[in-house]
Amino acid sequence: MLSRRTWEAALGTLQVEVPKADFAAWFRDTRFVGAQDGELVVAVPTVFAKETVERKYHQLVTRAIEKAHGGTVGVTFVVQGGPPDHAPTLTPAAPKLETRPAAAPGARLSPRYTFQRFVIGASNRLAHAAALRVCERPGTVYNPLFLYSGVGLGKTHLLHAIGHTVAEQWPDLHLRYVPCETFVNDLLYAIRTEDRGERRRRFRESYRNVDLLLVDDVEFLSRTEASQEELFHTFNAIYQAGGQIVLTSDRPPSEIARLEARLRSRFEAGLVADIQTPDLDLRRAVLEGQAAAAEVRVPADVIDYLAERVSRNIRELEGALTRTLIYAELNNLELTPTAAAQALSGLGRAAADRPPKPRNILAAAAQHFELPQDDLIGKRRDARTVAARQVAMYLMRNDGRETLPEIGRILGGRDHSTVLHGCAKIERRLRLEDGLKADLEAVRARLASGK
Ligand code: ADP
Ligand code: MG
Repeated sequence: MLSRRTWEAALGTLQVEVPKADFAAWFRDTRFVGAQDGELVVAVPTVFAKETVERKYHQLVTRAIEKAHGGTVGVTFVVQGGPPDHAPTLTPAAPKLETRPAAAPGARLSPRYTFQRFVIGASNRLAHAAALRVCERPGTVYNPLFLYSGVGLGKTHLLHAIGHTVAEQWPDLHLRYVPCETFVNDLLYAIRTEDRGERRRRFRESYRNVDLLLVDDVEFLSRTEASQEELFHTFNAIYQAGGQIVLTSDRPPSEIARLEARLRSRFEAGLVADIQTPDLDLRRAVLEGQAAAAEVRVPADVIDYLAERVSRNIRELEGALTRTLIYAELNNLELTPTAAAQALSGLGRAAADRPPKPRNILAAAAQHFELPQDDLIGKRRDARTVAARQVAMYLMRNDGRETLPEIGRILGGRDHSTVLHGCAKIERRLRLEDGLKADLEAVRARLASGK
């Protein structure tokens, strides 16, 4: 007779044969469900566990069951969601650090945002450890994982790193990375369009039918009630199916304005971890990593200068090094703290005193993209011209502090909404495209050097 005993006896064998951490990760929370057509039916807590035991341990499991039963038996695993009701106690498997970026379908992940390239320091140790832990046992520990910090401190980076690692370990699973803004826009679109039912249904399917959902910048939710409602149900669907959810925000759940209580309690149900501002050591290490990746030798005093000067935000820190490198190259200077100071002269306080003039921004953007200025003002719609024009808009607004109508006027009489759209487009692309960041810094370097 196939019974609970059979599975318990098989577990006894597996506990001896499977490495301790793996047993804890994949077998400890399994449960006998019943027997069907001469097969043992065993519940596992997550889709990840199901995938793993089927792929990696199929033979071992079958042998263990047959040994317990004393004859040929099959086994079927089913996912019965929800986290285990006891806290994990065993040591996790060794972290897999050799993550290579995987091209997971549907996941738009930046290849640069991997664990390998994430520098660990006191300020981000907890968030980093939690992210790794989620990769080892998705769907079981810390579900959801909620990461928060100020801007430019590595939330998106960690989120993508989780995506890469999980995609590599479970290539068949469905994962989805989505900026919350996209989630909200998709939803509003699905609700507004005429064939309501159909689009709404497709929207739901595309988000709920997911094993790992990575939602970036959930503070965006406070904009609409409908999106909170939708995320709540998405959340429950994934959770109940044993999937994993990771969220980021610029503030903790308790401080997200107008967040429904039920959603807040969901957000807080797993682990809430913050990333703090980086200390000097971490800032130096980030710059050294960036220099190494770019294969440039940057003198220690330049690293020190930049690390001291830009302290609150790692994105700006990286931008400062990029700009310094370009500035030195444009002006044929050696890499020295003085060159760095000149390159950064438009940053921070100085920028508030003397914002760059729109005329100069237009010229620098045209020059960098190797286009005539007239094309930026004119009507051309090819990708390069549009990018150059939008970069100019973005810089006029952010660095030049011009108003939208004024920028529109300078750029050949465009509507303010076109300018707004252009700026938003650049902001979105900046989150994913390193090439664009370099373009932006190059234009800024030109502005700083007056070339
Ligand atoms: P956030 O999402 O918190 O605004 P990001 O994840 O976009 O920040 O990080 C901003 C930039 O800083 C990215 O280019 C990222 O690679 C880099 N970065 C942040 N933290 C680290 C870190 N600990 N090590 C290496 N790079 C980092
Ligand atoms: Mg981010």
